[in-house]
Amino acid sequence: MNIITIDGPAGAGKSTVSKELARRLGYMYLDTGAMYRAVAWAARKKGVDTGDEKALSELCNDLRLDFDRDCILVNGEDISSLIRTTEMDRFSSEVSKVAVVREYLTGIQRELGRQGQLVAEGRDMGTVVFFRAAHKFFLTASAGERARRRKRQLRNQGKEVTYEEILARIEARDRADSTRSIAPLQVAPDCIVIDSSDLTVEDVLEKILSEIG
Ligand code: C5P
Repeated sequence: MNIITIDGPAGAGKSTVSKELARRLGYMYLDTGAMYRAVAWAARKKGVDTGDEKALSELCNDLRLDFDRDCILVNGEDISSLIRTTEMDRFSSEVSKVAVVREYLTGIQRELGRQGQLVAEGRDMGTVVFFRAAHKFFLTASAGERARRRKRQLRNQGKEVTYEEILARIEARDRADSTRSIAPLQVAPDCIVIDSSDLTVEDVLEKILSEIG
């Protein structure tokens, strides 16, 4: 079972690196953040509160998640472009604290991982979901650098947000993701940490490819 896990905080470049790594290896790419965002989106649509565990459990039972290349579908509806908002950044982080949501998504993720040949990116891939993975990486970068990258990204989409505001949001999400009681963002003891602050995407890929040999 060939599974490569890439965990790390928001904005460290996990998606770009994981997608390209999967493409080069001919592996499947699993974006687990998109799954939490999809649940958050479905909860918001139904008006379900993040504190209502029973309603979230029912919501998960009725939910069908599908993947079609880079798209994620909820009950047949392509919601890929609707989940990349600052509101969903925050709401997905809240929903991800809830035990029934994590159980539900962990089950799907493990099912998808049964075939192996997978690059799985998220927060708890190497620590919980695929703790037996052959290769585990933790991709990080300073909060300042992550905020600068995000600012550039937003500017390219025609959105102007101040650096200070982006930095504050990034730090708040880091705090929420690392201090929650279930599956917090942590560095697995057996993972390789890569700080991408001064590295290009290609540098990071080279490091990972040389580690997995
Ligand atoms: O990676 P992304 O920013 O899309 O993830 C959105 C949110 O989903 C994160 O802030 C985190 O709270 C949650 N998440 C998680 N476990 C994962 C992936 C994402 O808790 N494996």
